[in-house]
Amino acid sequence: MTNHKKLIIILLGPPGAGKGTQAKLIEDRYNIPHISTGDILRDAILKNSALGKKANFYMQKGDLVPDNIIFDLIENRVDQPECKNGVLFDGFPRNVRQAKMLQNMDYIKDCENFFAILINIPDEEVIKRLSNRRYCPKCKSIYNLIHKIPKRKVNGVYLCDYCGTELIIRDDDKVETVKNRLKVYYDSAEPMIDFFRNLSVLHIIEDTVLQEDVFHEITKIIEEELIYEPSDRHKLSFASSERQKWS
Ligand code: ADP
Ligand code: ZN
Repeated sequence: MTNHKKLIIILLGPPGAGKGTQAKLIEDRYNIPHISTGDILRDAILKNSALGKKANFYMQKGDLVPDNIIFDLIENRVDQPECKNGVLFDGFPRNVRQAKMLQNMDYIKDCENFFAILINIPDEEVIKRLSNRRYCPKCKSIYNLIHKIPKRKVNGVYLCDYCGTELIIRDDDKVETVKNRLKVYYDSAEPMIDFFRNLSVLHIIEDTVLQEDVFHEITKIIEEELIYEPSDRHKLSFASSERQKWS
């Protein structure tokens, strides 16, 4: 499914909503790169780069990294040729200011396929999931000791199913940090969610949907509105000027 017009998806939802897991599935299905600001920042921290040093100060506390750092990072990333078909943002935007910055970017100006998809889960579930989360620092796969248990364990340490790397617990998945992340999420994300709602690009997947069915819901949302390249005539009938809402 690569003959769609430029497709930009942003995944919204509290930490632990499963954005990263869904992102990998969406990336494969629609052939658009997954841009996770959290992964980029964690990589920078592992490499101890200048960006990493700056970001670590905020991330350890569960606070947001300053917007200007995020702006630079996003602009450089979408400039790359692999992003010409579109992208999937995970963890960006995080507040109204970042959302407006995205709205004003040349990159999205002519985009007819723009989806903001919110995955909602309750707080207790967030805490439960994050305390059981394991993360592969190499290929970024995400596991959960309740729902998605890694297959191998050596000397008490779980290994990544895909690349064999030892899985780690993210520094910011400690309970105290998680509570602050939730607070930060509600303070900054709620106004941003309203912002996307007002632009009529918001879709919500409610927490009643089973985790395994979330991807199905996402594809349903996208495929109902997806606009394809003109060569794909039969699908063009779905396109309507009413859907050109983001431009
Ligand atoms: P989660 O969604 O599970 O909280 P992420 O990997 O998206 O995790 O983000 C981890 C941390 O990285 C955040 O708590 C924040 O400090 C920082 N971060 C990631 N994306 C952004 C962003 N767009 N703006 C500001 N800070 C960010
Ligand atoms: Zn791995």
